[in-house]
Amino acid sequence: METQQKKHAALADIFNKDEARVDWHDQTLWFVRSKRDRLTHDIPEWEELRNTASQIKNHVLSRLQDYLLAFEKNAQANGVQVHWAADAREHNQIVCELLKKHGIDRMVKSKSMLTEECYLNDYLADNGIEVIDSDLGERIVQLAKEMPSHIVLPCIHKKKEEIGDIFHEHLGTAAGVSDPQILTETARQHLRDVFVTRKAALTGVNFAIAETGEMVVCTNEGNADMGAHLADIHIASMGIEKLIPKRAHLGVFLRLLTRSATGQPITTYSSHFRKPRKGQEMHVILVDNGRSRQLGRPDFKNSLKCIRCGACMNTCPVYRRSGGHSYHHAISGPIGSILAPNLDMEKFADLPFASTLCGSCSNVCPVKIDIHNQLYKWRQELVKAGYTDKKKTMAMKLMATTLASPTKFRLAGKMGRFTLKYAPFTVNNSLNPWYKGREMPVPPKQSFSEWYKERNR
Ligand code: SF4
Repeated sequence: METQQKKHAALADIFNKDEARVDWHDQTLWFVRSKRDRLTHDIPEWEELRNTASQIKNHVLSRLQDYLLAFEKNAQANGVQVHWAADAREHNQIVCELLKKHGIDRMVKSKSMLTEECYLNDYLADNGIEVIDSDLGERIVQLAKEMPSHIVLPCIHKKKEEIGDIFHEHLGTAAGVSDPQILTETARQHLRDVFVTRKAALTGVNFAIAETGEMVVCTNEGNADMGAHLADIHIASMGIEKLIPKRAHLGVFLRLLTRSATGQPITTYSSHFRKPRKGQEMHVILVDNGRSRQLGRPDFKNSLKCIRCGACMNTCPVYRRSGGHSYHHAISGPIGSILAPNLDMEKFADLPFASTLCGSCSNVCPVKIDIHNQLYKWRQELVKAGYTDKKKTMAMKLMATTLASPTKFRLAGKMGRFTLKYAPFTVNNSLNPWYKGREMPVPPKQSFSEWYKERNR
């Protein structure tokens, strides 16, 4: 499922081959962004909420160790078993061992981008354990053997007709049926069977409250509740940055999260998991997987404030027109592009460049992450570390030398005008990626500086 061999531009090229899909993807996400705008304008204190959320998260990050230990202590006092995982491998091993210990080989899972980041499904499949994703969008991409293309809307890249074909192949609906109501009802019946037969359920965590040791999971489908309440073992996987100090702070985050994500006032279910019911085991796995390293990078630690609302994706002109899979990482879009290089600078060196740096992502971010600044800073880090395209780096150096010298700048301008006029084929050809889909400019007779001097003689 991983597409590490191709970089963003090449993967975007594949997505861009279907122009109708690109337009529709673009418009659908813009519609979600517009809904978000309408809802936020209804709240006069919106900016104040954003500032408060940002400050709470800053505070947590500055005392992360203390809050993690407080959360562990309170969760254990509630009867929850707490595990610590340094990386994805440890996380997957813990889940696998817990299931094997209980002789379980089938598990239901609600949406958790952390488990996507850890490639948990693949790991468990290799160990003979079947995982069924219970979020409708996740189930669709799972049946299609794809990764989610969006953190909130995992199958936003698929049309209902394609989903109809997937359901026909895997869930037995009639061929050609694409009515969303019929497809949803089919998924509901299919998942009901899964919920009542699985002894283990894994959920993600949206917010973990240090003060009480409880976890809050937000879903629109109630699938996390169905899985966790019916299972004998509930495993919750959370990144260590998901903490908030007090339950009272939820009021800030829950108001921001869904308005930013889908333009709803609140998620349909905001479920609190505090202690296992009688006879049930509840586990929480606190996963680092590079987060401590990111916390130690002053320029990038703010990215850990993310509450995974997806608003930065919905607004990003590059994401909307290149599709989530072009980011070849579980978390796509602008936030993925500042998180992924922390995990593997070489593999994800292309992502910070997949942006216009327009700043729209930072403008909509409910916790005020300066995403576009971090994209820009990652570019500098990646160039320094030598992970960028050598030809591009040389071209930039040449450009810098030219722009730094008035003589060289004038000479380059003359050469450019001459080439475009007398030998345009040397730039207007298929070897020049810039030329593809663009008209090269008609060369002016003189430079601006020549024109200016002429008039001010
Ligand atoms: S970076 Fe901000 S806008 Fe993007 S997903 Fe995270 S919280 Fe939402």
